[in-house]
Amino acid sequence: MPELPEVETVRRGLATVWEGRRFVEVACHRAGLRQPFPENFAQRLTGRRVENVGRRAKYLVVTLDGGLVLLGHLGMSGRMVISAKRNSPPGRHDHVVFLTDQGIEVVFTDPRRFGLLTLCAADQLATHPLLADLGPEPLDPGFTPAVLAAALAGKATSIKAALLDQTLVAGLGNIYVVESLYRAKISPLRAAGTLTRRDIAQLVPAIKAVLTESIAVGGSTLRDHMLPDGELGYFQHSFAVYGRQGEACPRCTCDPAETGGITRTVQAGRSTFFCARQQK
Ligand SMILES: [Zn+2]
Repeated sequence: MPELPEVETVRRGLATVWEGRRFVEVACHRAGLRQPFPENFAQRLTGRRVENVGRRAKYLVVTLDGGLVLLGHLGMSGRMVISAKRNSPPGRHDHVVFLTDQGIEVVFTDPRRFGLLTLCAADQLATHPLLADLGPEPLDPGFTPAVLAAALAGKATSIKAALLDQTLVAGLGNIYVVESLYRAKISPLRAAGTLTRRDIAQLVPAIKAVLTESIAVGGSTLRDHMLPDGELGYFQHSFAVYGRQGEACPRCTCDPAETGGITRTVQAGRSTFFCARQQK
């Protein structure tokens, strides 16, 4: 599933081919994905100029001229594939095709169809039901230890569950929560309200660093998003603990054959990986 770094990679890829360009043709090959497309979706986009390609949590926020915003979500398996105009019939999972005045085609392809594309008036974006309740962006300078401390105060739920709560901090998924807690040496099982000021002072920079590094690598879970220069937009990121049950912890010098290595457990139906020796 695309996580925040993948969405940011897609955002950057789209910005290079969309910002300042006009949609000369938009073709919808089905009535909708997770939700039906808005009425006259293709017609309302055609002729518009893209002012900005932004992101909020895992949503792509494409600001168009005339006060219209195209809001997108990649869902479980959505991809934006950028190429020169192909003139070939769309593939089975190619649901929407955007063509710019530069002759660049972007195909939204999504085999599992949990993705989303919808329209919103720019002045109603902040109160849009999908965005209104989202907490701060983890990479925003405003996401500080003081902000997180206030949000965690008194919470009996685990720190892992708290960080997955999108109203508390937006866009963090399972993998990045697991990796951030490892980096900050905090057990995912701890009650959120028991984190000390020192814990939180380590956790916030850990979250920012894990996301920033992954964005730099180009995301982690998708591999075949083609950037306009032909490079692959996604790379397999190597995680310290995620998916590494029983392996040696990168920070411990002990033998995993003796210690059992990295522990896997399940919290709220999601896998958690951690080093029980270092994460307290
Ligand atoms: Zn360890």
